[in-house]
Amino acid sequence: MNVTWHIRTLVTLLAVLIHLPATAQEGEGLTIERLSDTIYVLFGDGGNIGVSAGPDGVFIIDDQLDGDGEMITKAVATLSDLPIDYVLNTHWHWDHAGSNEFFGHAGSAIIAHDKVRSRLESGIYFSQRDFDVPPAPKKALPVITFSDSLSLHLNGEEVHMFHVAAGHTSGDGIVWFKDSNVVHMGDNFLVGIYPLIDVDDGGSIEGMIMNIDTVLAFTNDETQVIPGHGAVSDKAGLLAYRELCIVLRDRITEMKGRGMTIDEMIAAGVTDGFDEAWNDWGEDWKMTSIKSLYAAIP
Ligand SMILES: [Zn+2]
Repeated sequence: MNVTWHIRTLVTLLAVLIHLPATAQEGEGLTIERLSDTIYVLFGDGGNIGVSAGPDGVFIIDDQLDGDGEMITKAVATLSDLPIDYVLNTHWHWDHAGSNEFFGHAGSAIIAHDKVRSRLESGIYFSQRDFDVPPAPKKALPVITFSDSLSLHLNGEEVHMFHVAAGHTSGDGIVWFKDSNVVHMGDNFLVGIYPLIDVDDGGSIEGMIMNIDTVLAFTNDETQVIPGHGAVSDKAGLLAYRELCIVLRDRITEMKGRGMTIDEMIAAGVTDGFDEAWNDWGEDWKMTSIKSLYAAIP
C-alpha cells in the first residue's frame, strides 16, 4: 500500500459515487438511465423510451410493444408520483407505439405526426418482414397531431417535437429538449444496428439523411442523443451513423445500377468495414436493412 494506491482508490470511489445516480438501475423489468434532473431513458425489448418527469408532470416518448404498458407505468412510478399526461410517438411502428391503446385507456393524451395517426388507423402490409399490421383500435390513435412541429412547455423547458422529411417512416417526429440539450431521434438513428427504411409507409434514405443533418445542425459535443434502439450516444455517434447511411446508399445505388441482386450485394461485401460496429442485430437484420435500402433507392 502506498500513496499512489490510495489516490487511485479514492479516484475510483469518487468515480463510482459521482456516476451512481446517473447510471443504470433496474426499474420493474426495464433498465433506467438518468440523463438529467428530469430526463430518463427506459431500455427494454422495444424502442428506447424517453421520460420527462418533473414538477409539472410526466410524459414519455414511445411506449414499446403491445403488453408493455403495465411494466412502463411501474418503471415511471419509480421516478414520479404523477400520472403520465402525454405519450409522444416518434413513429407508428409496433415496437414504439405498441402500448398506445393501454395509455389511451389510462388517460394519457397521445401526440404524434398526422401520418402516424393515419397509418395506425389504416394498418399496412410490411413487406420487409412479410407480415400484415392490422388497423389499430381507436384508443391507440394519437389525439393531438401535427404536420410540422409542436412544443410542450413543461418541467422547466421547451420540448420541441418536429418533422423534417419522410425518413425511417413517412411520419417521423424528432423530440428536442432545448434547455437540457437532449434529443430523441426515434429510428432515424440506431446505435450498433443497420438502418431500416419503411418503404411501404413512404420512408426515404434521402429523408433519413436530411433528418440527421437537421439534428446535427443544433447539436454540440455535450448533446445527449437518444437513438431508437441501442445505447445513448452523442454528436460523434450520430456523425458515424450518417457516414454509414451515406456509404450504404452509394454502394447499393452503384450495385443496383449494375443489376446485382441483394444476395449478390451481400456476397460482394456491400457492408465491408461496418459489420463490427453496426451488426449487433445479426445477419437476418442486416438482410432486412439492405433489402429496405435496395427498395428505397430508385
Ligand atoms: Zn421503427
